[in-house]
Amino acid sequence: MTDSCWSGNRDKIMSLAIAVAMTACSANPAPLSKVKSEPQSQHSRYSTQKVTPATPAPSAKSTTVKNLNFSVPVKFQGKTVYQVEVPNQEKVIALTIDDGPWKPTTTQMLDILKQNNVKATFFWVGKTVQAHPQIAKRVVAEGHAIGNHTWNHGYRKVSPAVARNEIERTARIIYQTTGVKTALFRPPGGYLNNGLAAYAKSQKYSVLMWSQTSADTDPRAKYQVFVKNVLRDAQPGGIVLMHDGGGNRSRTVKALPGMIKGLKQKGYRFVTIPELLAMSQ
Ligand SMILES: [Zn+2]
Repeated sequence: MTDSCWSGNRDKIMSLAIAVAMTACSANPAPLSKVKSEPQSQHSRYSTQKVTPATPAPSAKSTTVKNLNFSVPVKFQGKTVYQVEVPNQEKVIALTIDDGPWKPTTTQMLDILKQNNVKATFFWVGKTVQAHPQIAKRVVAEGHAIGNHTWNHGYRKVSPAVARNEIERTARIIYQTTGVKTALFRPPGGYLNNGLAAYAKSQKYSVLMWSQTSADTDPRAKYQVFVKNVLRDAQPGGIVLMHDGGGNRSRTVKALPGMIKGLKQKGYRFVTIPELLAMSQ
């Protein structure tokens, strides 16, 4: 249930042959219901749709339109991303939090993020979204970005049909629970060659890996080590891996304030993955 078994495999060439059998429309969940003013197009990819009212209401200025669509720039669609080259090596960094929603750690981390005015990106496991819908709703309500992390979080090689089900079923529960559509995908364990990432790419998801890890799945490390790992490896455009679910993550909760404080002291500001991708040169 964790990413502790990351193989370190780099994605070289992934066959997209299975994409031939897939159609965009059949993979799409129900039309947006929370953004009623959005034009409905049966043939547009949800990963590229914008949540923009067709005709802004007069009161739009005073109304916050929450972003429920985490799309990615075309250059990142179907690509694997470890880190982003940002202009002038600006000190921006993205915290990514995997395997939730989870009790009680997700809400504890949300409290810390809110206190520090930090937005993160959560990669959700479908079956845990189903188990903890209220937590999922809170994550979205507080402005964090969301990615798809499969339904069962398996590492083994799967058929194209199973890969499709893992990802599309998760996309559906995320949408049904929160109204979110996302083009962000992270493969469980970071495995890029078991069929899951290949399916995601065939559907124009961006496959988000990481440039540095807190190593918070190490069962023996003290939480201070997680902080040290993150601060040591911080780089402009970096993507930091940590977990709120998949096990007891109380040490990650303890580490989070120190990570945020230390990164701020180093001059970093925090962005979500979509924000980071948008900054790419
Ligand atoms: Zn995971």
